Amino acid sequence: MTFFEAINFDILKKSFQNPIFATMINPFTDEYFMKKALQEAEMAFEKGEIPVGAIIVVADKVIARSHNLTELLNDVTAHAEMQSITAAANFLGGKYLKDCTLYVTLEPCQMCAGALYWSQISKIVFGARDEQRGFINMGTKLHPKTTVVSGVMANEAADLMKRFFLERRK
Ligand SMILES: [Zn+2]
Repeated sequence: MTFFEAINFDILKKSFQNPIFATMINPFTDEYFMKKALQEAEMAFEKGEIPVGAIIVVADKVIARSHNLTELLNDVTAHAEMQSITAAANFLGGKYLKDCTLYVTLEPCQMCAGALYWSQISKIVFGARDEQRGFINMGTKLHPKTTVVSGVMANEAADLMKRFFLERRK
């Protein structure tokens, strides 16, 4: 048996496909940034706010982070996404969020999807679905320039929401 015959290419191929191996190549995965959005959601939870967190990333750099503050600000528009859109535009010095990715723990509502439409954001990555009040079932259109990835760390985001509503019922 030659050296090349001895190599099990299937195993080699599988290890390249292994998510742990992929993380070693590029640590800036969607999961990496979603974890940061989840940290924001936990901060909302601790304040008694519905736990939704968001961050905006450009070139692997976080330029905005926020969490839901509707109770504290007594403002229905104080969703995590709305604050991050404003913060990112301020950071960039321009209103369009070109080459930016929004990471948000919950599917955006129609208000946030509308604001994201106007921002022309390049990519939206969200965690858990919101069947009732999310933009998908509400039929809200995003900008044609925007791509969407869903279900990233969805269980973690949904668990946080469940835990929040359970504690509120006590
Ligand atoms: Zn919203």
